[in-house]
Amino acid sequence: MITFDDVVKVYPGGSTAVDHLSVELPTGKLTALVGPSGCGKTTSLRMINRMVAPTAGRILIDGRDVAGQDEATLRRGIGYVIQHAGLFPHRTVLDNVATVPVLVGKTRREARKSALELLERVGLSEEFAKRYPAQLSGGQQQRVGVARALAADPPVMLMDEPFSAVDPVVREQLHREFLRLQQELGKTIAMVTHDIDEAIKLGDMVAIFRQGGVLAQFGTPQELLAKPADDFVAEFVGRDRGLRSLSFDSAADLTVRPYTADIAYEGSFTKADSLRLVIDLAIRSPKGIAVRLGADGEPDGYVTHHDVADHLAGRQP
Ligand code: ADP
Ligand code: MG
Repeated sequence: MITFDDVVKVYPGGSTAVDHLSVELPTGKLTALVGPSGCGKTTSLRMINRMVAPTAGRILIDGRDVAGQDEATLRRGIGYVIQHAGLFPHRTVLDNVATVPVLVGKTRREARKSALELLERVGLSEEFAKRYPAQLSGGQQQRVGVARALAADPPVMLMDEPFSAVDPVVREQLHREFLRLQQELGKTIAMVTHDIDEAIKLGDMVAIFRQGGVLAQFGTPQELLAKPADDFVAEFVGRDRGLRSLSFDSAADLTVRPYTADIAYEGSFTKADSLRLVIDLAIRSPKGIAVRLGADGEPDGYVTHHDVADHLAGRQP
């Protein structure tokens, strides 16, 4: 758990970057720090590994004040991933990943062996190991950045806009891979992003900041979407937040109409999908319907988008 206890940061001669921040980032979860540019996200992140010193207040990791800890030891337990991956340009991909483990005492041979395994886990085959960062695409560089941060197996990871510099298609792919990896590893992650969709998608918890370094709201994605604390948060999470929140509602108890073989369809869903998907499919299909597939993969019913709306209306308190 990472605890911000009434933390303030005022840069010399500057305005307040972080204004009395108190929040707890749970162990083993990803907390997204999100908000408009200049609202203190990066500053908050860098106070965790002491790259920035707070003006007042304390930051604790598992109850221990970071201020009292040896900087080098502290940082060994904290992986750090930044926007353009920040790789060493004159080292191979393999050595980029193996550098920190060697520094902390692994033999070069051990470090390279586990670096290869890590690269594979982030989706880079052995052929990339010998290349230099400039010989990789942006998305591949980000993968190396993630592998490097994981190399010392730190319990805590700080990620500052890790997926912002790649195109949307690659970003989607990185998101998927990263979620899978995190499910396996269960690191305590603080991730900065300016993209609320990314925060909602990746975050177990989301901290929304406003200008002046003030925490506007902290909660699960669902809580933010369903109960924004104020107009700023409501505006920030977006006008179609009702639709977005459907991503969390399951299609499992949707009542379907009987399927007959003459029904042509394009989109299909299963009970495991979200209502959001069902609505998207139905709205996009020319007939306005989405077909449900049973456990055997065969169609067993269908709904119109009106059915989904009625289903939701029936649920209103
Ligand atoms: P974000 O990551 O949310 O964009 P930052 O934490 O980088 O925000 O910055 C918060 C505020 O602090 C901004 O007003 C920024 O100009 C200011 N700031 C950031 N770093 C420094 C610095 N090293 N010196 C002075 N002011 C800074
Ligand atoms: Mg920033």
